[in-house]
Amino acid sequence: MEHKALTDRHRAVLPNWVSPMYAEPIEFVSASGRRVVDATGKSYLDFFGGVLTTMVGYDIPEIREAVDRQLSTGITHSSTLYLIRNQVILAEKIAAVSGIPDAKVFLGNSGSEATETALLLATQYRRSNQILAMRNSYHGRTFGAVGVTGNKGWSASALTPFNVSYLHSGDRLRGLFAGMSDAEYIERSVADLREVLATTTSGDVACLIAEPIQGVGGFVMPPDGYFKAIQEVLAEHGILWVCDEVQTGWGRTGSHLWGYQAHDAVPDILTFAKGIGNGFALGGVVARAEVMDCLSAISFNTFGGNPLAAAAGIAVLDYLRDNDLQHNAARTGAIIHAGLTEQARRSPIVAEVRGKGLMIAIEFVAADTTRPDPAAALRVLEACRRDGLLVGKGGLYGNVIRMGPPLTLTESEAAEGLAILTNAIDEEAA
Ligand code: PMP
Repeated sequence: MEHKALTDRHRAVLPNWVSPMYAEPIEFVSASGRRVVDATGKSYLDFFGGVLTTMVGYDIPEIREAVDRQLSTGITHSSTLYLIRNQVILAEKIAAVSGIPDAKVFLGNSGSEATETALLLATQYRRSNQILAMRNSYHGRTFGAVGVTGNKGWSASALTPFNVSYLHSGDRLRGLFAGMSDAEYIERSVADLREVLATTTSGDVACLIAEPIQGVGGFVMPPDGYFKAIQEVLAEHGILWVCDEVQTGWGRTGSHLWGYQAHDAVPDILTFAKGIGNGFALGGVVARAEVMDCLSAISFNTFGGNPLAAAAGIAVLDYLRDNDLQHNAARTGAIIHAGLTEQARRSPIVAEVRGKGLMIAIEFVAADTTRPDPAAALRVLEACRRDGLLVGKGGLYGNVIRMGPPLTLTESEAAEGLAILTNAIDEEAA
C-alpha cells in the first residue's frame, strides 16, 4: 500500500519522461555485494548495477571508509575556486591510466556533462560546430549531448546547437552491415565516412563522437580495428575523435581497461562517468594538454570533482587495481557469455548474444526471423525480476536485454544469474 502510494506520488510530482522500469516499479532499501533488497524484502542478484554504475559492488568497505573519512573532516563543499586534494590525486590517477599522451583531466558530475565538455573542447579547438556522430548512439540528455545522440527516440529535443552528420553503425543482423565480415564492415564504414565528408560537411569538421560499444543502443559493437581505420581518415582532415567511455571504461570489457584499446587507436578526447564513482556523481574528460587548455575563459564548476565524489573515485580506482577486477570481468563474463551463446544456438527467439567482458546483451526476435521482438525482451526482464535477477533493456528497437553486473561478480553468482536468465528465455520461447 505504502509502495503503491509512492508510485502515485512519483507520477504526480516527477516529469512524465522520468519513468521507472517494470510494471511494478522497484524501490531499493538496502544492498550489499552484488545483491539489492527492495521495499517488500525481496532480494535480487543485480546484473545491471544501477545501469553499469555500481562498478565494484554495493557497500564495499574500502569505498565506504574513504567517503566516511572525507565526511568526517566536515568538508563536503566544492568549487573549482579552491584547491581540492582529492581532485588532484584522482586526476593524476586517471591521467596515468588513460593512455592519452600529455593528458589533463577535467572532473564533472555525469556522463552528459562530460559529453558537453568534450564538445566544448572539440568545437573550440577546431573553431567549428560541425560534428560527426553515430546512428543509434547515446551521449546524454543535456542540450549538446542530445544534439549528437543518434537515436532520436532517446533525444529529448530535435533541436541542436550543432551541424551534425551521422555515420552508419549497427549490428550485422539487418540493415547496411547485414551478414558482413569484419573486413567488409570496416571497408563499408570507411567508404561511408568518406562519402559523408565529401557530400554533407563543408570545410572543417570538429570531431567524431562515438562509443566503442554502443551502450543504450544495445551493446552494438563494430569489429576490433574499426576505429583505427576510421581515425586514419579523420586524421587526414585534422578531425578529433571523442571516445565516449561512459559505459565501456575501467575494465568493464574485460580485455582492456578502455573500450578504445581493442582498436589499436588512441582518441584525442575521452569521456568517462558511471562506474568511476560507484554510485557517487562523478564523470569527466581526458584530453591532451594542448586540446584541454584551448578554452580561454575561466570555467567554474560548483560540484565537479567535489571532495566526496573524488574520495570515492580514488578508492574505486585503487580497488579495481588491487583486486584485478578487469580480469575478473573477463573470467565471469565468459561464463555468462558462453552459457547464453550455447542457449542461443537452440533458441529460435535469440538472434544474437554479444558484448565483451561484463557487458553482455541478448537480442530477441520473433521466432526464426530477424524481426525485433521488444515484447519478448520485456517479458524476459519481468520473469528475471520474479526469479530474483535484475537486468536492463535497450537497443534501437527496445528488443535487447542488457547486462553490466558489478566487476566483483563471483563465478557462482555468474552461474546463478545465468540459470535464471536461461530459464526465463526458455519459458518465453515455449
Ligand atoms: N554516454 C553514454 C555512453 C551513456 O551510456 C550515458 C548514460 N547512459 C551518458 C553518456 C550520459 O550519462 P549521464 O546519464 O551520467 O548523464
